[in-house]
Amino acid sequence: MLIAGNWKMFKTPSEAKTFCRSLRESIGDVEGIDIAVCPPYVSLANAIEELAGSGIDVYAQNVHWAENGAFTGEISTGMLTELAAAGSIVGHSERRQYFGETDDTVAKRAKATIDAGLKVIACVGELESERDANETEAVLARQLAPIVQQVGVHERLVIAYEPVWAIGTGKTASPAQAEEAHAFIRGIIDVPLLYGGSVKPDNAGELMSQPNVNGALVGGASLDADTFASLCAAASVVA
Ligand code: PEP
Repeated sequence: MLIAGNWKMFKTPSEAKTFCRSLRESIGDVEGIDIAVCPPYVSLANAIEELAGSGIDVYAQNVHWAENGAFTGEISTGMLTELAAAGSIVGHSERRQYFGETDDTVAKRAKATIDAGLKVIACVGELESERDANETEAVLARQLAPIVQQVGVHERLVIAYEPVWAIGTGKTASPAQAEEAHAFIRGIIDVPLLYGGSVKPDNAGELMSQPNVNGALVGGASLDADTFASLCAAASVVA
């Protein structure tokens, strides 16, 4: 089971340092799960330094597919490797919604990251309007198709199912809704599947108990070290 904290655009380098120090303390003897944090680019180095030897992985929130080039604002897998980042999230719904990310560019980012020897958390998920129109499975199948084609099943690939209507809204998918979507995704690509969308310490246990839910991608509840540690502890009980 993997619990990954996506910090989004929160925490400066010095805040990352403080957070990681207290996470190491708060996480105490949580065992039996993998834990990762995903700071903004400028805070990666400090997080990596502070978490060295802790077993907690540090991922970027996005990465480009080219080795280098005229891609202002992007960073490459080589840059992440030199920092000793473990991998990257790709295709977060906020990238898709606000920054023009497409199903194809998500797959290209995922493939380059895998090819570079790094780990990938590739995100998929439907809008509320798509769920209401009974299009959830069609959307997931469409988003997954280029990932399946370009990457396929790989030991360093994880898919995060994040229904857009549940991200940062406090509206969590019910365990049954999460399980249904995960079972559908598993039928398309059999890799570890994280659920994301308002996961908190008090709902993590039930969500993580679903047979096809193999972990969580956590936004808001990953920003406080004690809260994130309690969430990891709740997940470890059912791991
Ligand atoms: C996320 O950022 O991936 C996320 C799931 O956010 P939240 O937990 O705040 O809904």
